[in-house]
Amino acid sequence: MAGVERSKLPDFVQWPSFPFTGEIRLKPFEASAAVEPPRRGEDPADCPSCAAGDADYLWTDDRWRVKALPKPGGLPMVLILETRSHLDLGDLSTMHAAELGVLTVRLERAIRSLDGVARVHVARWGDSAAHLQVWFLARPYGALHLRGPFMTMWDDILPPVDERKWREDLEFLAAYLNDA
Ligand SMILES: [Zn+2]
Repeated sequence: MAGVERSKLPDFVQWPSFPFTGEIRLKPFEASAAVEPPRRGEDPADCPSCAAGDADYLWTDDRWRVKALPKPGGLPMVLILETRSHLDLGDLSTMHAAELGVLTVRLERAIRSLDGVARVHVARWGDSAAHLQVWFLARPYGALHLRGPFMTMWDDILPPVDERKWREDLEFLAAYLNDA
């Protein structure tokens, strides 16, 4: 599949939010795997989320835990919501599912209330970790070139945000979540 014509590239390479410029070429397509490989922590005994203590998390309750990344990235805030138990999205009970909705709205509201945040993107991929992780990614106010689905890339591309402000924001978010 080498040598896809430039005119065959998808429209999104022209979007202002596409992080790359210059000559873009597609990688050759890999043949489909006959069997999907195991994800990280497929066996709960080897699951990093299950092994982590509450001290590694920003906020916890009986059924949910919220963590930040170990250090600031290019986006003002990235948080990850996990179930306390070893569950994936489709495993959630009706109660868990209802709480996921409530917590998603609460986290979106909390992060969006930070200074300098315009929007919060919410995503769950589930391709690398077996344990449910819902990502909350804050887009800086006015950073219109970060709009849309490439924002996870921009988190790695942009220089890290100020660590002191990031830690203050984490304290604010922990207080916000504890307050509800
Ligand atoms: Zn787990």
